[in-house]
Amino acid sequence: MTRETRGLRLTNTLTRAKEDFSPIDASNVRMYVCGPTVYDFAHIGNARPVIVFDVLYRLLRHFYGADHVTYVRNITDVDDKINARALRDFGDDIAAGTLTLNEAIRRVTEKTADQFHKDVKALGCLPPTFEPRATEFVLARQDGKTDMVSLIQSLIERGHAYEAAGEVLFDTASMPDYGQLSRRPLDEQQAGARVAVDTHKKNPQDFVLWKLSSPEEPGWDSPWGQEAWTAAGWTGKPKGRPGWHIECSAMSAAYLGEVFDIHGGGLDLIFPHHENEIAQSRCAHGTSVMANYWLHNGFLQVEGQKMSKSLGNFFTIHELLETENFGGRKWPGEVLRLAMLMTHYREPIDFAVRKLEEAENTLRKWKRAADLAEGSADVPDEVIAELCDDLSTYSAFQVLTQLAGEALDGDTAAAASLRGALEFLGFDVSAEVDKTAVDEAIAARLAFIRDKNWGEADRIRDELLARGVQLKDGKDPASGERITTWEVKR
Ligand SMILES: [Zn+2]
Repeated sequence: MTRETRGLRLTNTLTRAKEDFSPIDASNVRMYVCGPTVYDFAHIGNARPVIVFDVLYRLLRHFYGADHVTYVRNITDVDDKINARALRDFGDDIAAGTLTLNEAIRRVTEKTADQFHKDVKALGCLPPTFEPRATEFVLARQDGKTDMVSLIQSLIERGHAYEAAGEVLFDTASMPDYGQLSRRPLDEQQAGARVAVDTHKKNPQDFVLWKLSSPEEPGWDSPWGQEAWTAAGWTGKPKGRPGWHIECSAMSAAYLGEVFDIHGGGLDLIFPHHENEIAQSRCAHGTSVMANYWLHNGFLQVEGQKMSKSLGNFFTIHELLETENFGGRKWPGEVLRLAMLMTHYREPIDFAVRKLEEAENTLRKWKRAADLAEGSADVPDEVIAELCDDLSTYSAFQVLTQLAGEALDGDTAAAASLRGALEFLGFDVSAEVDKTAVDEAIAARLAFIRDKNWGEADRIRDELLARGVQLKDGKDPASGERITTWEVKR
């Protein structure tokens, strides 16, 4: 049976080829993208998959209808880094007995997840259809949706997992084509695993599905590890917690079924995370694939260097939006969005101040042109055609620039098409202006002028202009004092 295609072609990491996209069920196109681990502010590298797959989500909705696409992006709220953060931030309360570790963990994860939602909203991203939290999918659920413990149980029953030293491990030797996605040579897989040789593993590349928690660590009632628990001198029933990979296998099956259309994430997740998701899901369900199309976005560098805390070039989304730490100024979310999409999603991207400035100038010109439209037209076919070629956002933007040129030459139809394209791509073209924010900015600018800080004063004027607010300086005829009025001019 040939399934229908609508012109969309995507590069599939599984086959290393650009392929026609055809969904399993056009009335419910299903995509899963690995979400954040919520222990700290998301960094700009985390923003890239969120933005890239938001564009794909919009394109799928365009083709199949908004009600016929299901997009799941999980929240990882169980992780040793989260435990460490909870102990760091709430250690005193925990020691004093005023807060349990689990309560502290919930405070850390809820605060971080809220911040993540604010960040990605500012970046112009639509919320996914479902955003499940890992902790809600550990044990069997009332609604019968797939959970991690049952999934691990099936893997054991089917001979793909074994218990050793309090852990449950996936038996990679039980899966003849393990390693299909990453295509890493076996010796490399072993070299990677040899960093921490665990004698209880049958093979070095076997990975953890479930591990024992100590009574102090977060844990769930565990069907496994009684012997190790008792041997450690702990009483009662054992507690344990899931490995990272199993949560995506459970939550994708819970919402998208055993086999679905698209699985996405950053290049760094191919091995081991996605490889192991595939192993778990296929072996638990007895299927030949987990998802038909595997998409991966490229790495992100900052000013030509790998982003790292030690190099001092580590930036969070929040910092770029709300502080002046990057390039000495704040950046609007849509400028970050455009800058991120100016490079093809599979290519490495160099995030640099110069790139953000270029994006801001481009966006300013587009908006000025789009404002010449009476209303907005549908997103033009030429834009869709470029996006259909493996999400070639760069080529789509060239169409937008051409439309902007035509609009500025007086072509109102081009202006309307441009407006439609900008709306489609997640850029805000509504004329609404936050009046209070403008008045505050004007007051701040006048203060800088009084201090003869012309640089800062000009910066505020330019930032307002980028938002379509043009300032007019004049003198109060009565008092002779400088007054500033403004109008929306796009
Ligand atoms: Zn995942």
